[in-house]
Amino acid sequence: MTINYGKLFSTKITPQSEPLPGSAQVPNSAGGYAFAVDDWMRLDRFLMLGSEGGSYYATERTLTRENAQAVERCIAADGVRTVARIVEISDAGRAPKNDPAIFALAMAAKLGNLQTRRAALDALAKVCRIGTHLMHFAEYLQAFGGWGRGTRTAVARWYNGRPADKLAYQVVKYQSRDRWSNRDLLRLAHPKAASPEHDALYRWIVRGELPTPTVPLALGIVDAFEQAKRAREVKQIVELIGAHDLPRECIPTEWLDEARVWEALLGRMPLHALIRNLATMTRVGLLVPMSEATRTVVARLRDGKKLADARVHPIALLAAQKTYAAGHGARGQHTWAPVGAIVDALDEAFYAAFKLVEPAGQRLLLALDVSSSMEGGQVAGVPGLTPRVASAALALVTAATEPQHAFVAFTRSLSELTISPKWRLDRVVKAVSGLPFGGTDCAQPMLWASARKVAVDCFVIYTDSETWAGAIHPVQALRQYRQQTGIASKLIVVGMLSNGFSIADPSDAGMLDVVGFDTATPALIGDFARA
Ligand code: CA
Repeated sequence: MTINYGKLFSTKITPQSEPLPGSAQVPNSAGGYAFAVDDWMRLDRFLMLGSEGGSYYATERTLTRENAQAVERCIAADGVRTVARIVEISDAGRAPKNDPAIFALAMAAKLGNLQTRRAALDALAKVCRIGTHLMHFAEYLQAFGGWGRGTRTAVARWYNGRPADKLAYQVVKYQSRDRWSNRDLLRLAHPKAASPEHDALYRWIVRGELPTPTVPLALGIVDAFEQAKRAREVKQIVELIGAHDLPRECIPTEWLDEARVWEALLGRMPLHALIRNLATMTRVGLLVPMSEATRTVVARLRDGKKLADARVHPIALLAAQKTYAAGHGARGQHTWAPVGAIVDALDEAFYAAFKLVEPAGQRLLLALDVSSSMEGGQVAGVPGLTPRVASAALALVTAATEPQHAFVAFTRSLSELTISPKWRLDRVVKAVSGLPFGGTDCAQPMLWASARKVAVDCFVIYTDSETWAGAIHPVQALRQYRQQTGIASKLIVVGMLSNGFSIADPSDAGMLDVVGFDTATPALIGDFARA
């Protein structure tokens, strides 16, 4: 009996604990080998997924440091391109949170070459669209050497660059964040006021004084804010809200248990605030089944165009739906009776918040990695929203537009999964949360399709690419499948974590990396599957 060398070393079948022969694979965090994504993909993953909450394998600190180093390499390689990408993703509202974009912008503003620093500061108002964003930016600058002349000028321009009434709204609504206040920012930036109204506003911010006897019209909201602090009756608060569009942030806490106050606020409430305050408005008794206020809320959640214009991210809707339907807060001190029509409207809004997707008309296998590591960390800092739950919700969006699809869930083995975009999200979350855990083998979807003779044009795998528990690499399993079936099947890897790995071979044109919870992801999947 001679030794079968082909069985001991083959370029067709390699266990995942070893690198693919002839490839540049790197060890992942799980003891397996995967492809390294380039720094630009890493930048995208960071901008879209952030590093809040860390992962199963890495602490928040480690994951953030790794990502920051990748961003730094992008800035060094092509700072202007880096800034352009930050602006593109932030401005289009593609990411669940804007913080990673603000952080990367602060890095570019301090660590880039002259051209990059200029581009970053020129983009300040595009990325930092509200007062909170600007305060985060100020805080992040501290990590990279603090303020300089360029930053002072850019922050001064941020304040002077908007009309006095719009600026007045910003400063009363976002008074301070992250240890920074408007007063701190103005003292450092020291802008020469763009108009007499700006001048009056800056005086109020820095010294708390309003002009007497008449307050300029543009500063009406500031005056109303001051009056609200002294109000003695609900009626006064309701009138001030009606006359000046005072936002919730300007209402003293003692009035925030009054349904009438919330009713007045609801009239002009921005969509983001509406979504965040559904539980409170229900708890205080404003949102009850079939009420006028409930009809208003449902109608606003159903307005897809307004959702898109307000850049409401599907993750925000998923998080809101999850919390609202639960009927109690995370720490349990507040409870409410969720209104069914609102739960349904949030569900519809989740699907509507993604970019409009044209069906690709292909056979898609939507494969969810439900291994243990997908239960670690949280997506976009939403408590309880693990990559496992998030990926199921994301896969449903594609399922909702593609008539030919099947769901599978895999660990070391594979299970067919019955979920449907016709289900409400809370039911899906429950179904996916109940699946057993285990080691990871990302080759399973291809092996399953091969064994069951299921024809698949495109495998879509939602994973952190921390695969290790298989006898064959996913890429090899795909090539075997292609050979067996004669179908030129594609593979899309939807990255659910801002790490540096992928199971997609960058040298194979039939494979693509996309980022989970980019609002453009379902459209990108459709385009690639169709091409
Ligand atoms: Ca895993």
